[in-house]
Amino acid sequence: MTDAPHSGDAQFDVVVVGSGAGGMLAALRAHDLGLSVVLVEKADVYGGTSAISGGGIWIPNNRHAKRSGLKDSPEAAKAYVEASVGDSVEAERIAAYLDAASRMADYLDEKTRVRYAVAAQYPDYYPSLPGALAGGRTLDPELFDASVLGDELKRLRPPSPTTLLMGKIAWTARQAHKAMSKSFGWRFMVVWAMLKFRMDKAWRKKTGLRRDRYAALGSALVAGLRRSMMDRDIPLWLSSPLERIIEEGGSAVGVEITQSGVLRRIRARKGVILASGGFEQNQSLREQYLPAPTAVRWSATPAGQNTGDSLVAAQALGARTALMDWAWWCPTIGVPKETSQRGVFAERAFPGAIVVNGLGRRFANEAEPYLEFGKAMYDDHQRTGKTLPAWVIFDAHFRFHYAMGPIMPGQIMPDRRIPQEWWDQVLWTADSLDALAGKIGVDPAGLRETVDRMNRFAQTGKDLDFDRGGNVYDRYYGDVNVKPNPCLAPIQKGPFYAMRLDGGDIGTKGGLLTNAHAQVINQSGQPIRGLYAIGNCSSSVMGTSYPGAGSTLGPAMTFGMIAADHLSQQV
Ligand code: FAD
Repeated sequence: MTDAPHSGDAQFDVVVVGSGAGGMLAALRAHDLGLSVVLVEKADVYGGTSAISGGGIWIPNNRHAKRSGLKDSPEAAKAYVEASVGDSVEAERIAAYLDAASRMADYLDEKTRVRYAVAAQYPDYYPSLPGALAGGRTLDPELFDASVLGDELKRLRPPSPTTLLMGKIAWTARQAHKAMSKSFGWRFMVVWAMLKFRMDKAWRKKTGLRRDRYAALGSALVAGLRRSMMDRDIPLWLSSPLERIIEEGGSAVGVEITQSGVLRRIRARKGVILASGGFEQNQSLREQYLPAPTAVRWSATPAGQNTGDSLVAAQALGARTALMDWAWWCPTIGVPKETSQRGVFAERAFPGAIVVNGLGRRFANEAEPYLEFGKAMYDDHQRTGKTLPAWVIFDAHFRFHYAMGPIMPGQIMPDRRIPQEWWDQVLWTADSLDALAGKIGVDPAGLRETVDRMNRFAQTGKDLDFDRGGNVYDRYYGDVNVKPNPCLAPIQKGPFYAMRLDGGDIGTKGGLLTNAHAQVINQSGQPIRGLYAIGNCSSSVMGTSYPGAGSTLGPAMTFGMIAADHLSQQV
């Protein structure tokens, strides 16, 4: 690549690298501050992991919660984030986030097409910490009529089937939660969503698109941001990967990208904002930094894009890194023919499913947040050597009533409708627990004992080992109709089922160390002039924690705004 001819040098005030939600927000903000800006993207579609995500953003003291009468305060938010993050992140960065997050959400509301609503019942992830709230800090995108993108809709990265009702119908996280927890009226809501989708057949026929006209979750977020960029004529160059950051006198003054195999220089008069995601798609960087074993294919992020290019390019300028051995852990399930694995965010909490290691033993509270659960898989693997993969086990009752990964409840997707190649690859079944254990290579005596013990807990409603269902977060994904504990039910009715869980992630958490202005810091602790990093190519402001749903996108977009604001003040 490097000996390709330089062609058509360009100049802008700001170059943003990567079209996830953070990069797009930064580009919009820079434009609105009077700067000329270009966004360059490696893939031939825009949106990155952000487009396949839930799109939730964790924003303390947001106006939507206030309007709904929910209480929060800057003091409570500060106490909560500090207790979650500990001393792994500089206090100024945390303060910068807490100060700017709600302003960023207001900016979205007032100046862009993106619309959020408060997920009023979505609790913070660590309910026992000071300042935690039982709901109000997570914002959930409203559905977005993506037909306003016109032809540009074809270049929006398609959403993950996991995020769609029946793998095809758009729904908000609030609607998905209502269905998952089987709250009052959920059946009617599902039928209505299906009907609405059917009634829009004419649009799908006219456009030749098979997708829902409405975008939901991360797809709605990215579609709204993209439309807002189109409103402003901000250029987005697809298939234009960053190759190198151009440096002069210790400052970043532009980037080199390739377009159709030709190297092209873009001068950035004010600076470069790196927003190109983490390194989760790069096997050798994973092996260098993350705990073993580790595999690109376990990640739930889009295949082949986030390979740490900005990280490596900035390291060449002497950039410092932090948290490199951390990912946003999330157990994942592989599905034949799908290029990325599916995250198992919520289903572990449904009553009647347990997760065991190769010894047939539970090792964590299945209902705990995905970051902690993923970390527990690694910790238990270090102790036993038998937790990667782990196995989720359930019975015929669970199978009929609840979803698990790509397997819809049996009442919608009976066994006969499961694709043939999924058997013994995604889902294993047997008439007895012993036979099931034999099929998946788990110790049968251990599994039998674990199930007996768990069945006793289901009766009393008390999980004496890991206190599953013991707090408001666990219960958020429990079944409200199951008593006394919405996260516990016996495993007793054959046939029995197992699914394999890998030590996956939804992106890496470590990356370029930045300061409170999102400037990249060098080895001597000084900011590199003109160089900013946001999102997963920077080390997370949340340190090793995940305070609430939206703790990756909220900071990515907030620091996108902070970076643009800081850049605009540079002479
Ligand atoms: P991305 O969104 O991945 O964007 C990076 C972009 O940079 C990509 O488009 C990539 O192609 C591009 N790129 C890479 N290399 C180059 C290069 N050399 N040159 C140019 N461009 C490049 N987080 C939340 O906060 N809330 C949620 O609700 C949520 N739900 C999730 C659900 C799922 C199923 C998954 C997988 C993740 C979820 N996450 C969620 C995590 C979140 O999506 C990611 O952490 C977030 O999108 C990262 O944003 P980013 O901008 O850093 O990276």
